[in-house]
Amino acid sequence: MTRILIIGGGIVGVASAYFLGKAGFQVDLLEREITLGSLTTAASLQAVRAQFADPVNIRFMQESLGFYETFAQQLDLPGHDIGFHQQGYLFVTGDEAVAARQRQRVAFQHAHGLTDVEYLEGEELHRRFPYLAREALAATFRQRDGWISAHEALLGFRQAARRYDVRFHLQTEVLSLTVRHGRVVGARTAAGDWEADAVVLAAGPFTAQLARTAGVELPLQPVRRHRVVIGAHDAIPHWAPMTIDEDTGAHWRPEGPGAALAWVEPEPPSPPQRHVSPDPNFTFRVMEGVYRLNPFWLDVAETLKRDNVFLHAGQYTVSPDHNPLIGPVPDVPGLWVISGFSGHGVMATPASARLLADLLTGHTPLAENPYAVDRSGLEKAEGELMVL
Ligand SMILES: Cc1cc2nc3c(=O)[nH]c(=O)nc-3n(C[C@H](O)[C@H](O)[C@H](O)COP(=O)(O)OP(=O)(O)OC[C@H]3O[C@@H](n4cnc5c(N)ncnc54)[C@H](O)[C@@H]3O)c2cc1C
Repeated sequence: MTRILIIGGGIVGVASAYFLGKAGFQVDLLEREITLGSLTTAASLQAVRAQFADPVNIRFMQESLGFYETFAQQLDLPGHDIGFHQQGYLFVTGDEAVAARQRQRVAFQHAHGLTDVEYLEGEELHRRFPYLAREALAATFRQRDGWISAHEALLGFRQAARRYDVRFHLQTEVLSLTVRHGRVVGARTAAGDWEADAVVLAAGPFTAQLARTAGVELPLQPVRRHRVVIGAHDAIPHWAPMTIDEDTGAHWRPEGPGAALAWVEPEPPSPPQRHVSPDPNFTFRVMEGVYRLNPFWLDVAETLKRDNVFLHAGQYTVSPDHNPLIGPVPDVPGLWVISGFSGHGVMATPASARLLADLLTGHTPLAENPYAVDRSGLEKAEGELMVL
């Protein structure tokens, strides 16, 4: 039996523990905090989509969303509800040039097996989504995209993992990796040393910092991102999809009787943080941002009560091409990584954790890993859709 030590109990680490336990490994997961899933996973907008513009990402997200659609069956947890709202994802534009690109992208997605994305324009767009401003010219829409409860998904993975040789150790902070004769053989915590045949870094924004303790520089940078949740408000169309202004990146989606909003603004990388302070002005900026193509946000903004606004911030763990790093760290035997999701970690979790387990068992040859740490083209991003 191979012993695996996972560092980090966010959704990625916990799902990895499940897939590795199922594959027959002996797994110990070390989490610094008093609870699982309290860092980036808790800050997420929890939105999931298969609408990507790269064939590998399209396949990968289709696998992940398929898993979420059948979560209770996949994990044999009858009745376990992850709150998958398949209200769709709508990328909207008011720009002719972007509309032309959207049309091409949908043709590309269809050609690569994502046949249920629609390109909408003119009257049809406004008939289907009457809350949009007249400036909205075109959009792409996929009904099966949407959002889940990441917390419920994490709890499901944890419950299912317990059937195997998997243990979760909370309040166990890893101080450094242990390297012996050039090989990572475990980790050091205040409560003692852990030995393992392989160590998996799933520490979200702290991943690169931990890798550094073994002398490894991973191309990952934490970048602050905000989320605003608005409580109940009558002006919000609760049936709407996740709606993204593709010209600016500002986006919102219904959240119960209210809504959740986010916007990927330019921001420099920052050191990894356990508590990320939000910028109080973000709430006003993001409402300005979504208002342009969703004018009802003006009514919401003008009648908003301070105690109905909940502002949070977390950190994306960003890789150069905005795709994750999954697999062994080259030239450092014993060290594996699953991180760098660049804002897509909740949606990518099932397929990523499955891939990690397949790479560790050898079921997927390392040469066939599209998210290898030393892949070529790592410095190039897919394009505009990746940052949303
Ligand atoms: C504002 C915002 C909105 C987002 N929206 C979306 C979205 O809509 N859809 C989507 O798919 N993704 C979204 N994301 C990204 C998504 O939240 C992340 O990709 C995902 O949660 C990453 O999960 P993780 O398990 O890798 O990391 P984390 O959740 O950060 O977990 C890492 C864990 O490692 C632990 N840890 C760190 N250092 C140590 C140590 N030394 N010892 C022990 N434990 C340690 C931490 O305590 C933490 O629990 C969003 C992120 C943000 C910030």
